[in-house]
Amino acid sequence: MFICDCHCDTLTELYKKGTSLYDNDQHFDIKRQIELGGGLQFCAIFVPTHEFRYYGGLRYTLSLLDKYKQELKALQEKGIDVLPVLTKADAADVLNHKAATLLAIEEGGAIDGSLEALRMLYELGVRAMTLTWSNRNDIADGVNEECSGGGLTTFGRQVVAEMNRLGMLVDVSHIATAGFWDVIETSTKPIIATHSNAKTLCSHPRNLNDDQIKAINANDGLIGITFAGQFLEEDYNNACIDSVYRHIDYMLNLLGNDDHVGFGSDFDGISHPPYNIHGVQDYKPLIEYLQSKNYSDSTIEKITHKNVLNLLSKVL
Ligand SMILES: [Zn+2]
Repeated sequence: MFICDCHCDTLTELYKKGTSLYDNDQHFDIKRQIELGGGLQFCAIFVPTHEFRYYGGLRYTLSLLDKYKQELKALQEKGIDVLPVLTKADAADVLNHKAATLLAIEEGGAIDGSLEALRMLYELGVRAMTLTWSNRNDIADGVNEECSGGGLTTFGRQVVAEMNRLGMLVDVSHIATAGFWDVIETSTKPIIATHSNAKTLCSHPRNLNDDQIKAINANDGLIGITFAGQFLEEDYNNACIDSVYRHIDYMLNLLGNDDHVGFGSDFDGISHPPYNIHGVQDYKPLIEYLQSKNYSDSTIEKITHKNVLNLLSKVL
């Protein structure tokens, strides 16, 4: 099985621990991904801008971007066939490779308030950006600022327009509700929520309500189901493969189609993973579980990879 996964924080762990993207004891590595049957992994540079108050994020971003490039080089030197996805043509070619990566930024504060920096990060290979983390930045408010009611700022609107123009995925995971609706109104291209679940099943503020899920469907975008226990179950101790299935199934039923749901595990960024998911290798029992629920091969192919590749073909 080929798995497209729209979010992980593996780069942060690699950078902090000096470990390898090919082979490590974290949640995700390329070796296990290839053993599983291959995949496209979005690799996010998570920038804790709240620690920088507020500038300095760009320098940190470049440090993780350097680690990403070094790891790709190491894979190339080992002769491992990993495609860094940059273009529509790459997206169409992904399945011809053993594995693929897509470089993302989690937290738009990474660009230090500069459209020039955004364009240069695009030049360096960034193809998706989560507009906010959970706090406020100069693009919009994150979910922790929900009480303020703030949406996209003037600068935030410029960022969305520029990302649309360049061909970068606009990611609305973590953004507060007003900002979410501003993005729906502003973006001229399909958007993504890389790692968010259904609020009706689990009331965490990071999850999407039914109207938001339907709006992403209408926008032709995609929702990546995440494995964070707190977003799967009210009591994260109960989070398991069945919880992941229930969030997928809820969205498919709500939308009446299987075209807008994928995965966004948040591997290496989750403190409470499901008790029977320990890393990328456990996509195998998860997919087998979906098969046991009588999901058709076509639906499984869409959720595992086709929907994400389809989105990339429209946005990049
Ligand atoms: Zn996140």
